[in-house]
Amino acid sequence: MTEPFDTSKLTDPTTRYPGPPFDTPKQSAPGTVHKLQPPADHGEASYKGHGRLKGRRALVTGGDSGIGRAAAIAFAREGAHVVINYLPEEEQDAKEVIALLEKEGVTAKGIPGDLKDESFCRSLVKQAADVMGGLDILANVAGKQTHQSTIEDITSEQFDATYKTNVYALFWLCKHALEIMPKGSTIVNTASIQSYDPSAILLDYASTKAAIVAFTKALAGQVAERGIRVNAVAPGPVWTALQPSGGQPMDKIKEFGSSVPLKRPGQPVECAPLYVLLASNESSFTTGETYGVTGGNPLP
Ligand code: NAD
Ligand code: MG
Repeated sequence: MTEPFDTSKLTDPTTRYPGPPFDTPKQSAPGTVHKLQPPADHGEASYKGHGRLKGRRALVTGGDSGIGRAAAIAFAREGAHVVINYLPEEEQDAKEVIALLEKEGVTAKGIPGDLKDESFCRSLVKQAADVMGGLDILANVAGKQTHQSTIEDITSEQFDATYKTNVYALFWLCKHALEIMPKGSTIVNTASIQSYDPSAILLDYASTKAAIVAFTKALAGQVAERGIRVNAVAPGPVWTALQPSGGQPMDKIKEFGSSVPLKRPGQPVECAPLYVLLASNESSFTTGETYGVTGGNPLP
């Protein structure tokens, strides 16, 4: 009888990480990784680098938690210097990330501040470039998501804050970064499955995410001749503090991930390889694209 195939190196994606039902506490925005139950995997122990971003200089927004934390850890493990931005109230999450980045022997710094303010966005880019001696990767990961049942429930303040965080900040950061980015630099934005398949309860958020796809395509077309590439990652449901801190109603959190074919939410670390690929020279013929990491509900 022939020996069965060796399957010891294979991982079943359906059971690799926890699936619903979940019972994680409700948080107030912007939330923290420490209240997520079960805890999320940002690659702290699981992401292995291969020198793919050696010597690169990256600014990662939303780098304290969730997908941004996973991207920041992965960038540093791949050899990049990394500055993360986050909100002042997220200092504890951020400190942990900075300690992990420092272990990689790269330059690592946290710069807290509110991206809804253009002058802060301008100074963030400048400070990041000063710290790292330049800037050649901008990963725009910060985002705001607040569910509301009806359009009447969305205040102008919420609408404004969602657009300022998700779209205006992207515009300001790209604009100021492009003033100093050399040829070969890369910008990676964060769209969503919501860009294409909007939930009725995420009217403002989903429309910002659709804007990010068009922004990515248009900017990529514009800066291609400068030798700069712009792409986006579009996650499906991912296990982060964004969701139980007002991003979804708590009854939806209980079943979070059940609507995708893999029947579970993704973990932040499962998004990180796309940020690395799109930031690195390995993807040098790819620009203007949005890549899905959706658990099986493909982008149209
Ligand atoms: P997260 O809460 O861990 O990260 C979002 C971060 O945005 C926060 O940590 C915070 O630092 C930052 N932020 C929010 N408002 C800010 C402001 N005014 N100024 C500065 N920083 C601000 O959640 P996450 O899910 O990792 O979110 C990261 C990105 O992924 C977001 O753009 C989100 O829209 C996108 N995304 C998430 C999912 C998901 O299911 N989690 C799905 C698709 C897209
Ligand atoms: Mg956070």
